[in-house]
This record gives sequence, C-alpha cells and structure tokens, in this order.
Amino acid sequence: MSTIADNIALVSARIRAAAQASQRDESSIHLLAVSKTKPAAALREAYAAGLRDFGENYLQEALGKQAELGDLPLSWHFIGPIQSNKTRAIAENFAWVHSVDRLKIAQRLSEQRPADLPPLNICIQVNVSGEASKSGCTPADLPALASAISALPRLKLRGLMAIPEPTDDRAAQDAAFAAVRRLNENLRDRLDLPTDTLSMGMSHDLEAAIAQGATWVRIGTALFGARDYGQP
Ligand SMILES: *Cc1c(COP(=O)(O)O)cnc(C)c1O
Repeated sequence: MSTIADNIALVSARIRAAAQASQRDESSIHLLAVSKTKPAAALREAYAAGLRDFGENYLQEALGKQAELGDLPLSWHFIGPIQSNKTRAIAENFAWVHSVDRLKIAQRLSEQRPADLPPLNICIQVNVSGEASKSGCTPADLPALASAISALPRLKLRGLMAIPEPTDDRAAQDAAFAAVRRLNENLRDRLDLPTDTLSMGMSHDLEAAIAQGATWVRIGTALFGARDYGQP
C-alpha cells in the first residue's frame, strides 16, 4: 500500500512535469492538500512529508481537525459552499477562502475577519461549465463582483477558483481552464485588479490546469486515496 509520502512524491512529479511542459517555473505552482473526510492523522502524515496548506469543505469537520492539529503551523483553506451562518467561523479560522461566489458572503467575511489577523485571502469561484454547475458566479457577473470584493477592507482578492465539469477529454479540460485564465486576465487588464492566483486543477486534471496557469492545484484523491462517504 502506498503511503501519503509516496503519493506526495508522485503528485509533485506530475506538477514538475506539467510545469516543464508549459515552460513554467515550478515554484509558482502550489499544492493544496484537500483533506475532507480524512482523519487528522492523515494530515499529520502529510505535514511530516512537507505539506503545509490544507483545504477543507465542511466547517465542523475542519474545526475539529484544526483543534487536533493545533500544535502544527498549518495554513487552512476553505474550499466548500458557504452558508451565511458559517461566515464568522470561517473568517476567524482560515487563511484563504476559495469558494466565494456572492457579495453578501464576502461582506460578512470582511466584517467578521478579526482585526488581529491579516486580511483574508479570497478567490472568487466562477462557473465556466454553464448549467452543469450550480456553484460559482457567472462570467457575466464576475467583473462587478470582483470590483466590489476588492473594495472590502478586511479581504484581499487574490484571483479565481473553478471546478469545471469533470471530463477525461484533455481538449475539453484545456478549454475550460483557458476560459478561467482569460477571465482573470480580463480583471487585471480592464479593471486593474492585481489578481495573482488561479485555483484550479484536481487529481484528474492538474496537468491541463497547470498548462493554463494554475497557481494552486487542489488535490485530494491522488494524495489521500479515495474518499469514503458511506457507512463504516
Ligand atoms: C474534493 C475537492 C477537491 C479534490 O478533488 P480530488 O479529485 O479528490 O483531487 C478539489 N477542490 C474542491 C473544491 C473539492 O471539493
């Protein structure tokens, strides 16, 4: 059975190869370990093998692991859907939020970000798969949302996040990630927003995402194995 350290080596090699294939500096691509449904012990193992950034989708589960791993200097990223009543705990306990898709949530996160913490890093989740996806703001709504978020005092707008419809077709993967890249360039060029982040690419499509400029790849299965949501 492969260990988490083995898996990290394999994923790192994939990232390196993809960076070389598109003549990108490997150090501009960061690995976010997506640890939803995985026990604190698995994160501790990943930490021992060098990982520092962990992505979680479910608030209560994340808070439990944060308490168990309070002795480690980890950076926590919230990547799941956000309900209004969860914003305070997210603002207090995470360094990044990748899944902001409406202004009301952003306003609450800004108001609730504690004064003694640095501004909360924000990615706007954008829907580039049309009706196939229910989360994410539409490309049409993105410029106004990005402008409004960039004006909020306790947030730092970093860029975009996307979860394209899963497909094994490389050309379709490239097209979806290229659309995200162009939306981000548009924010920079037309609105002068200094976005430096593209959070895109998961276990099955990180190569295509890196080819289109991903700066965070969010990897779960390839690091920790398949998730089991069923009964034990
Ligand atoms: C679960 C999840 C991932 C990781 O997906 P894998 O296919 O297991 O790598 C990445 N991003 C988000 C938003 C997720 O919910």
